[in-house]
Amino acid sequence: MTTPQLRGLRKTGKCWVHGTHRPESLTHVFHHIIPREWQLKYHPPVERWTQGKEVWAPDCILVCPTGHANIHYHIRKIQELGNYESYKVRTREAKVAKQAFINWVAYGGSMDTICKPR
Ligand SMILES: [Zn+2]
Ligand SMILES: [Zn+2]
Repeated sequence: MTTPQLRGLRKTGKCWVHGTHRPESLTHVFHHIIPREWQLKYHPPVERWTQGKEVWAPDCILVCPTGHANIHYHIRKIQELGNYESYKVRTREAKVAKQAFINWVAYGGSMDTICKPR
């Protein structure tokens, strides 16, 4: 099964959402495009997922702590909205957040599973 991918997805190097930094970021964290927390709630019936394996969509990007917090801020906003299609993307942080929902739905995940009741 193929899912939409972010261009230039990579696991090493610079902060994926900001590129260069001022001030310099001395630490980086991995962000799962589909948050790990969601991946525990639902498993897609795909060949890619090995029974017993916690994470079935291992795609990650390396980001600075601020970028990571901002990605999750946008994810929460979209969850509150309950709809990702209309969410305006003006930064790479927002783009990564929106991609979580695009990939989740592509894998057969339900918006109800991940969105807070309105
Ligand atoms: Zn994350
Ligand atoms: Zn950054």
